Amino acid sequence: MSSLAALGRSPADQAGCTEAPVLRERGQREVFCGLTGIIWLHRKIQDAFFLVVGSRTCAHLIQSAAGVMIFAEPRFATAIIDERDLAGLADANDELDRVVGQLLARRPDIRLLFLVGSCPSEVIKLDLSRAAQRLNRTHSPDVRVLNYSGSGIETTFTQGEDACLASLVPEMPASVTSAPALLVVGALAEVVEDQMRRLFAALGIGPVAFLPPRRARELPAVGPNTRMLLAQPFLADTARALEARGAVHLPAPFPLGAEGTTGWLRAAAGAWGIPADRSRAVTEAGEQRARIVLDRHREALAGRRIFFFPDSQLEIPLARFLARELGMRPVEIGTPYLHRAHLAAELPLLPRDVLLSEGQDVDRQLDRCRAEKPDLVVCGLGLANPLEAEGFATKWSIELVFTPIQGYEQAGDLAELFARPLVRRQKLRV
Ligand code: SF4
Repeated sequence: MSSLAALGRSPADQAGCTEAPVLRERGQREVFCGLTGIIWLHRKIQDAFFLVVGSRTCAHLIQSAAGVMIFAEPRFATAIIDERDLAGLADANDELDRVVGQLLARRPDIRLLFLVGSCPSEVIKLDLSRAAQRLNRTHSPDVRVLNYSGSGIETTFTQGEDACLASLVPEMPASVTSAPALLVVGALAEVVEDQMRRLFAALGIGPVAFLPPRRARELPAVGPNTRMLLAQPFLADTARALEARGAVHLPAPFPLGAEGTTGWLRAAAGAWGIPADRSRAVTEAGEQRARIVLDRHREALAGRRIFFFPDSQLEIPLARFLARELGMRPVEIGTPYLHRAHLAAELPLLPRDVLLSEGQDVDRQLDRCRAEKPDLVVCGLGLANPLEAEGFATKWSIELVFTPIQGYEQAGDLAELFARPLVRRQKLRV
């Protein structure tokens, strides 16, 4: 294993789809791996560091996904597994301990270190959970070392966040009270988190905590009094781990668009027994502002047909928002996984005539897309360029995870993300 790389630059139809048949495919997939999640997670937990134990390919992936971001003190890097490690000529554990020691000596600001597993670390069967235990003995209590896997060609890029947050759950203290406490689960941009905190406060809901927290030592408590509101639809493992510790999931639509945000807030309000008129009084102004902004994008989007390839796991809530609040017509909504319990409030809101597909057989799906000739295709980076070359307008699904899109104040930005490629095409044609 070589020394750290990447430290210098890191960069409307009401009937719905609840019972509709789902096309399940298990063929070749075009997706990014879970390492990608580091790009937004490292900004969120401000005293954490993500050390990918991987190859140069992994380092390249992270740097390309990070784009042009340059940090004086980056919070992620790759410990490169080289040929000697792969050939079993070096003790990868000794090398890892040395690299971690160097890193922590140089960066006393780090309080939480994630060892992030990759395909190469799994190929050489490097046991990162044992490595984390060993390193904790050396570096705790100053630094807590955890591990999760970001690897895989059979995963989606948002599963990295799920694996990371799931690794935090055993670290959360047990709650010592029976009074209900709200836990919002899923990384949200700070601006969104602050808006949500104000809305919960106005509703009279509290205490409220967010997972992940902004600082490693601010991990919220969890127990049977915890009411869990998911901010992201891709957190199956994290939700399961929290439920195992007693947390109770509040079914809700996801906070995308005016309707989704109101539904999400009301799910919490319902659990707190807040009267409907009080909830309405709090949410009305934000909802109204969002609707006014959305109206500006309606002309560009209404009636336009949209096709979702499975990628981010945000596809179903996005399609619901675009169909119901902007009049778009989803023709196929592909999702990597269809988690019915977490999507129970979303599925009935989808148009009745849409094809729902789970998993992927990329060639067959491309054929369906070409046959449908949609106005806009939402897909991963690997498919966007070839589809653009064939004349399709595309939207990178990864942008929807990097951009603050949740809540009333962001509804217009979310609509604009879809309107922009269509407006640009129209201008090019004129
Ligand atoms: S798919 Fe595997 S090898 Fe490729 S970047 Fe991700 S973890 Fe690394």
